[in-house]
Amino acid sequence: MEQSVVHKVIIIGSGPAGYTAAIYAGRANLSPLMIDGGVGRGQELLGAGGQLTITTEVENYPGFEHGIQGPELMMVMRNQALRFGVEVVEDLVTRVDFSQRPFKVWVGDDLYQSQTIIIATGASAKWIGLPEERPAWEGGLGGRGVSACATCDGFFFRGKEVAVVGGGDTAMEEAIYLTNHATRVYVIHRRDTLRASQIMQKRAFANPKISFVWDAAVERINDPAEGKVTSLTLRNTRTGEISELAVQGLFVAIGHKPNTDVFTGQLELDETGYIVTVHDVRTSILGVFAAGDVQDTEYRQAITAAGSGCMAAIQAERLLEAEAR
Ligand code: NAP
Repeated sequence: MEQSVVHKVIIIGSGPAGYTAAIYAGRANLSPLMIDGGVGRGQELLGAGGQLTITTEVENYPGFEHGIQGPELMMVMRNQALRFGVEVVEDLVTRVDFSQRPFKVWVGDDLYQSQTIIIATGASAKWIGLPEERPAWEGGLGGRGVSACATCDGFFFRGKEVAVVGGGDTAMEEAIYLTNHATRVYVIHRRDTLRASQIMQKRAFANPKISFVWDAAVERINDPAEGKVTSLTLRNTRTGEISELAVQGLFVAIGHKPNTDVFTGQLELDETGYIVTVHDVRTSILGVFAAGDVQDTEYRQAITAAGSGCMAAIQAERLLEAEAR
């Protein structure tokens, strides 16, 4: 069904970037429409609120002296956005057409049109695919010793032994960061050579707290029955030999996937699928902005996502204002 109204701003996605954009656009009287991602289906498709909905405590988001639970932070932001009049469509965008303005966004058969678009669909951490990685409420250990973000959760492993899975730059970065907290960090890699850049390899090899477990795949995270990570069951990828590694935490660092499938062919993406932006949030199309993890390969923090959501809303407002003159 085609809606006759042409919105000033449509925000696609509802993590910290999307909600912040909604708050700013709402306060600027732009009557934003948000298409929030819907209910999701667990870790592969997170739905409204994004990655923070599958984390536990967030201690580094300024303004919460004693920390706040990730899902609660998203709920507070959502309520704040609602207070400023954002209209929310609780569903997933299925198709877009950015070839001319007004831009077109479909949710199934429903067509929405807008003068500007803010894309804040985020990124999803890649997971190994083990049932124990799933969030605690789905019977897994996610949030209770299994994480995809050392900056977020490393602090909880002070004085403990942890493992990082992956052989790329992210894995090295996570492992090095974790040595600030953990007494030992095992890097588990499925081959015997790293994919990481030479400089990151060198740093990781030189760190006395990091040990490498080569040719190994994680078969099982133990022990969901105890509600925490106690060890990993590993399989040697060459010999098939099974072994056990005692650790209290597992960080999965096998890459992130930006949620941009629906935008392929519509605007410039880099070789890994992230939206290319200039001046922080402007995409290759005038009037289409991108904020948060969907365009951020470097920081990927809730606070940086929120900051770029603010920038995108201000940019959208300025563009509309300039065009109205
Ligand atoms: P990446 O380079 O694609 O590395 C992913 C790693 O995970 C690879 O070692 C891969 O093993 C392993 N892996 C993939 N799927 C796996 C699975 N199912 N089970 C076990 N292991 C698996 O990803 P990234 O490290 O996130 O880096 C992404 C990009 O960002 C890169 O271009 C990187 O240089 C850049 N980056 C740069 C920095 C920095 O410069 N400081 C920091 C972070 C990221 P194989 O090697 O066997 O394929």
